[in-house]
Amino acid sequence: MKSAVKSLCLLCVLCGASFCYSLDREAFSITEYVLNVQVDPEQHRLGVRGKITLRNDTPTPQKIAVLQISSSLDWRAIRAADKMLQFVTQPYTSDIDHTGSLSEAIVTLPQEIAPHATIDLDIAYEGVVLLDATRLTRIGTPEDSAKSSDWDQIDEKFTGLRGVGYVAWYPIATEVASLSEGNSLFEVLARWKTREAGSQMKVSFQNPNLTSDEITSTMLCNGKGIQGVSREGTARFQWAQCSYVDLAHSAPTFVIAIYGVVDRPSNAVFNFSGHAVAAEAYADETERVVPLIADWFGNPREKPQTADLPDASAASFESRAFLLTPLADSAAKLTGLTAAHQLTHASVLSFRPWIEEGLAHFAQALYLENQKGRQAALDYMGAHRSALTAPNSEDEAKQSLVDTTNEQLYRSKAMCVWWMLRDMIGDAALKKAIASYKPEQDADPTHMPRLIAAQTQRDLQWFFDDWVYRDRGLPDFKVESAFAASTPTKSFLLTITLDNLGTAGAEVPVTIKFAGGEVTKRIEVRGKSKTTFRVETPASPKEIRVNDGSVPERDMTNNTFKVGPPQN
Ligand SMILES: [Zn+2]
Repeated sequence: MKSAVKSLCLLCVLCGASFCYSLDREAFSITEYVLNVQVDPEQHRLGVRGKITLRNDTPTPQKIAVLQISSSLDWRAIRAADKMLQFVTQPYTSDIDHTGSLSEAIVTLPQEIAPHATIDLDIAYEGVVLLDATRLTRIGTPEDSAKSSDWDQIDEKFTGLRGVGYVAWYPIATEVASLSEGNSLFEVLARWKTREAGSQMKVSFQNPNLTSDEITSTMLCNGKGIQGVSREGTARFQWAQCSYVDLAHSAPTFVIAIYGVVDRPSNAVFNFSGHAVAAEAYADETERVVPLIADWFGNPREKPQTADLPDASAASFESRAFLLTPLADSAAKLTGLTAAHQLTHASVLSFRPWIEEGLAHFAQALYLENQKGRQAALDYMGAHRSALTAPNSEDEAKQSLVDTTNEQLYRSKAMCVWWMLRDMIGDAALKKAIASYKPEQDADPTHMPRLIAAQTQRDLQWFFDDWVYRDRGLPDFKVESAFAASTPTKSFLLTITLDNLGTAGAEVPVTIKFAGGEVTKRIEVRGKSKTTFRVETPASPKEIRVNDGSVPERDMTNNTFKVGPPQN
């Protein structure tokens, strides 16, 4: 095999890029993985044998398949029906793996595989997985923060591998992803995950060093555990199995560590020794948040699990309701806000980020309102709103909430959109709409908007057009004029003309202050239009304030208006 490697490299050099570029790395997707994984934490080693099923996703027959694993792993054998296959290996620079490179096997298949046809391959590879932040440090990320971000490794103290996008511990087939080129990594990942929709992975994990009477570590995964101790996803680690069914959505991830566990009815927290108090505090806080989240989003589909990370500054990682986060010094970081988010993921499932992540962030605002009142929730949303700016007009559709790959939009903006919908149609109607959502019925982007529309008499099409289907930017409200007049019944009638200078419409609360009180009305103003309305007040109106902060707005400095003395 060594000579084959050399000759391939030589060929690449001789013919320049043409040979390498003619490889279609994304020709095959992998529809099924059945892997036996030996994890040896003491030696940092991973040894994998298994069977994978490749499907030709191109319209032409294919004779060559590309399989990639992390560059710290080496291919040992690739067979088809007990026949050893010829393959050459080469390093392939790509930031889809934490090492910034992949070990690529270019495999000559025994026969051409027809479009949509499949072939089973037996594979073997092994190597070590050490903490490695090369892909981040080489683009200038300081070493400390690079290591806190790419914390994946196999180690005695802690083993954690997060799958494609972090560590290619199972074979993938992707074009180059580069962190220095805009959205490249995101796009390559998204393409791979889309091709893996419907794929399955069953993994048997074994620790070759342990015998049954000295099993001390705990193994957790973001799939379904089918062996081990009593609960799904949890296994005392000598051997454990995990089946990952939703590869399009969550990269197969596992952790192994010597954990204590705080097990509560609605959640479990796995902690390193010395962090039991923090684990209990978070587990109990989560229990307290359960009723609010269940009321809004229904009963959880799964029991949320939280597991400790050894590096106190490690970046948290979530995969649905599976949360990996450092519990050290967690008092300030891990609160009911985190719990609300995690619990919402346990209840609501959607492959659309504006629904799944948007609702989880909306839940955080609901939690704050529940704890500290509406203003606290508005302040929280306000702090997340700075990222929302006017869209590039060409990107209007691309940046729509339903299609966006921009985290700021599907997190912060979606949170605001859910909050506005709630203010417009009321809690009960929105809860019903969310309860009626089933991801398996969600065949097109209008599905959720239609469920919401079904719960109200109001026409919401304009709102979905401006905020969900397109990114029309933000509204900008301004009181153009206001005249007060006294009435024969000794009250006052205020006539207000409200202008929306922005391109997105919204329903906005307008508060009129008068001596001894205030009155609030909700007014709908479409983008680039005006509306005139009247408000009756018991005393002479003094001031108008538009928008309490519940509607994201481009310019909030022009939102108050002093009302002149009433005309008779
Ligand atoms: Zn989330």
